[in-house]
Amino acid sequence: MKVALVGIGKIALDQHVPAIRAANDWELAATVSRKGAVAGVESFTDFAVFLAQRPDVTVVSLCLPPVPRFAYAEAALRADRHVMLEKPPGATLAEVQALQMLAAARGLTLYATWHSRMAYAVAPAKAWLADKTVRRADITWREDVRRWHPGQNWVFEPGGMGVFDPGINALSILTEILPAPVHLTAATLTYPENCQTPIAADLSFSGNVTADFDWRQVGPQTWDIEIDTDEGTLALRMGGNRLEVGGVEMAGENSIMGEYPALYARMAKLVTTGQSDVDLAPAIHVADAFSLGRRIMAPPFYL
Ligand code: NAP
Repeated sequence: MKVALVGIGKIALDQHVPAIRAANDWELAATVSRKGAVAGVESFTDFAVFLAQRPDVTVVSLCLPPVPRFAYAEAALRADRHVMLEKPPGATLAEVQALQMLAAARGLTLYATWHSRMAYAVAPAKAWLADKTVRRADITWREDVRRWHPGQNWVFEPGGMGVFDPGINALSILTEILPAPVHLTAATLTYPENCQTPIAADLSFSGNVTADFDWRQVGPQTWDIEIDTDEGTLALRMGGNRLEVGGVEMAGENSIMGEYPALYARMAKLVTTGQSDVDLAPAIHVADAFSLGRRIMAPPFYL
């Protein structure tokens, strides 16, 4: 299948281009970006021109930040293209639901990807937890925003989600692996004086589940989920890539694909079977945190 990548920035170049190039199912047939391009691939700067001139490219993968992404997704669906969305799937819940309805009405595939769900240890963790009772779970997701989002000021603008940009990855794993759903009960959000989105968040959920997100951690980075059950403890570390049961690390599953190759394999299957996959559960928790969140102000922060 021919795919066009739209928004040639950090994640497109770091992950999407290598994943597409390594896949037998896919051909990177075009790029659309105001500044970015990929060597050897036809590039467009105007999305409408691409849609008009390349009807042979039936799949569009949108790697833009969430706020500008909706207009591209809507235009792509109206032009009868299947659409793959980077996470978070939209700047609001309602706009993603609008895309879902549009895709369904036109018989097209819409895939709201959650790359962290494809991390190596997530499926084994889900399988281990399936018949257990969870007594508590604690997420610690602390990273250095300057290291992972250099110069990306959109993360601190409305709709950029702030620390929920990485935090939603943890929530995508949590909502995938817990045997029973939880809901947010309280949130404290820390906003730098000069930012429209939080740089840190402390969340409480039903079922003794907590999350600690912070974008100010320099040095070693922490992406952990620790879960206590009626039959012992489980920990996911390194963003869902390492699994510990009872404090003992389980052997890696080297045969499983990496996160982005797995997303493209899933998209190929969805398109060929005429299905969509849109799970808003992680984004609902984020919206609830903004809805219930208590605000704390912090000193100005600059990327
Ligand atoms: P980015 O590099 O800042 O932006 C991606 C590209 O989007 C830019 O190069 C830009 O291309 C285009 N773009 C930006 N603002 C635009 C606007 N207002 N209108 C039209 N195009 C615009 O961002 P990124 O880090 O790749 O992140 C993009 C998405 O991927 C986000 O949703 C993020 O959460 C997700 N993601 C990022 C990472 C990561 O490590 N960075 C990891 C996983 C997922 P042109 O200027 O060339 O048009």
